[in-house]
Amino acid sequence: MKKPEKPKGSALCSPSKLPASDYVINPYIGCTHRCMYCYASFMGRFTGHSGETWGTYLEPKQYASMKLPHHLQGKTILVGSVTDAYNPGEGKYCKMPGILQALAGCEAHVEILTKSNLVLRDLELLRNIPDLAVGVSLSNLEQADNEMLEPNAATAQERLETLKTLHENGISTYLFVAPYLPGLTDLRELAEAVEGTVDAICVENLNLRGKAKQDVLEAITKLHPGLEGLYRSIYLEKGAAGYWSKVEQEIEKLRRWAGVPVVSYLYHEKIKKK
Ligand code: SF4
Repeated sequence: MKKPEKPKGSALCSPSKLPASDYVINPYIGCTHRCMYCYASFMGRFTGHSGETWGTYLEPKQYASMKLPHHLQGKTILVGSVTDAYNPGEGKYCKMPGILQALAGCEAHVEILTKSNLVLRDLELLRNIPDLAVGVSLSNLEQADNEMLEPNAATAQERLETLKTLHENGISTYLFVAPYLPGLTDLRELAEAVEGTVDAICVENLNLRGKAKQDVLEAITKLHPGLEGLYRSIYLEKGAAGYWSKVEQEIEKLRRWAGVPVVSYLYHEKIKKK
C-alpha cells in the first residue's frame, strides 16, 4: 500500500537567519506577485522549481503541526520572508486565517509584510494577536513603474488604503519602502502619502543579483532612458557606496520631518544577527 505523503515543511514557524526576526512563517512556496527584483526568486532551486520562472508557480504548504515554538517572549516572528502570505493565490487557498488563529495570544512580536489589500479580509483575526505590526511595501506611486516591476501586486492606491484601514482599526502599521528604486523613489512623497496612517517607515535599498540585475536594469532604462547612467554607475560600476550614502542623508532629513521613527536597512546585507 502506498504510504501517505508527508506534509512539506514540518513546522509552521521556522528559525530565521534574517537579522530582524527570530522565526519566519512562509505559507507558500513561490509568490505570484512576480516582482522582477524579488530576492526570493533563487528559492526555486531548493523547492523543485528550478527552470521555472519566478512568479509562475505557487504551492500552498501543508504544516505537520500548527504549534508555535515555546518561549516566544522577546522574539520576533516575520510572516512572509520568501513569499507574500497575501499573494493572489491566498484568495483561493486561504492559508492565513488558520495561521492567524495559531498566532492568537502569541507572546512574540509578529510582523506581516505584504503588497496586498487582501490582508484586510482577516482584520478580525489580526486583532487577536497582541503584539502585531503589518507592513505594506511600496516604492513608488507611479502605476506604470509598479505594473512593470510588481505586475500582480495591489496598486499603490490600494496599498495606501490598506494602511489607512488597518491603522483606523487599531492595528500597528509601517510603510516599508522596499526596494528604494534609484531615480524613482521619492521618500518625501511616500511619507506624505502615508502621513497619519503608519507608526513607522522603513527603507531598504534595491539589491540586484544574477539574472534579476539584467532584467531590472533593462526594464527600468527602457521606461526611463534618462536613468541609464545612474543605474549603470550603481550596479555595473563602482558608484553604489556614494549613491547610497546620499540616500542615507535623505533618510536623515526624513527623520526630522516625519512624526514617526524612520528605520534604514540600506546596508542590510552587512547587518549581522546579534
Ligand atoms: S511580493 Fe515579495 S516575495 Fe512576492 S514576488 Fe514580490 S518581493 Fe518576492
